[in-house]
Amino acid sequence: MINVTKSFLPPIEEYQAKIKGIWESAWLTNNGPMVRELEEELKTYLGVKNLLYVTNGTIALQIAIKALNLKGEIITTPFSYCATTTSILWENVKPVFVDIEADTYNIDANLIEQAITDKTSAILATHVYGRPCDVEKIEKIAQKYKLKVIYDGAHCFGATYHGQSVLAFGDVATCSFHATKVFHTVEGGCVICKDDDLAKTLSHYRSFGHKNDDYFMMGINAKNSEFHAAMGLCNLPRVNEIIRQRKVISEKYDALLDWSKLKQPKQDIAGFVYNYAYYPVMLPSEEKLLEVTEALKKEDIVPRRYFYPSLNQLPYLDFYNPCPVSEKMSAAALSLPLYYDLDLKDVERIARVVNATL
Ligand SMILES: *Cc1c(COP(=O)(O)O)cnc(C)c1O
Repeated sequence: MINVTKSFLPPIEEYQAKIKGIWESAWLTNNGPMVRELEEELKTYLGVKNLLYVTNGTIALQIAIKALNLKGEIITTPFSYCATTTSILWENVKPVFVDIEADTYNIDANLIEQAITDKTSAILATHVYGRPCDVEKIEKIAQKYKLKVIYDGAHCFGATYHGQSVLAFGDVATCSFHATKVFHTVEGGCVICKDDDLAKTLSHYRSFGHKNDDYFMMGINAKNSEFHAAMGLCNLPRVNEIIRQRKVISEKYDALLDWSKLKQPKQDIAGFVYNYAYYPVMLPSEEKLLEVTEALKKEDIVPRRYFYPSLNQLPYLDFYNPCPVSEKMSAAALSLPLYYDLDLKDVERIARVVNATL
């Protein structure tokens, strides 16, 4: 069976060697030596100042919202994974959906100002499929209205914009290191920020809000373990090679798929270098999407509807902000299988089935 993704695993001996020390020290979690080593290596790789390794990409968003003390309303994108919206709801803040651009599928910065009210405290946008939001325009709006900016950078690991990591923008950027992402630590994620005091606050939130026996603020448990950090330390030196191979596979799809009927989100953005996190295609209609999915399923190939539904249509919301572009894109967006050891012969087979069904 060929799934939309398959987790990369390093040689088992290497992982075993990394975790051997844990049996000697019995230091399993709570800011252990491998967690700190991984944080240092990630800071160097990404070129960022403050980075905290956490349990997952969802709690990364939640503690970011908490640490920035965001209230009222947060302007956000409807085209992302549900965690972008649920992290806002979980912190008792109202998500206000602003529609997306028809080419990048990122939040349309030109529509943000008209959605700002006296309750707006922040903008939380996703760099969807690793493509950067219009960070310059969003920064200007944020300064003008004194809003905070959080970027959900769950898809951005290894992607750069004008020579900087896409994760370097915003007051806070978060990433997910879940097993399905380009770089993973089984479960995991991080919070990145420029401000040192904010980084301190985030680290207190990560660890129950205590210093020794002094429980001076309400925190949560967002710490990650030595076992997860060890997986990260094994995978990080391989991430450039992983991205290179994903590029080869993506270019094969580019060459084989029938572009008279399919579309792709814009990749040719000035200054942007992609990390090949996904291989999304836009079908001509939802009906075609279902037909293609069915045809692939017959061959034991499982694509995924990244990202469906449009988040403004989540069933547990008690209001509706129309987002026609996002709703249309969500109905037609399909991510094809893409992972490090996906055989190019299988790419040919997948492309053949897709083209034949269009
Ligand atoms: C994967 C993902 C998340 C959640 O990350 P976890 O580590 O699984 O909690 C959040 N936002 C987006 C856009 C994602 O793709």
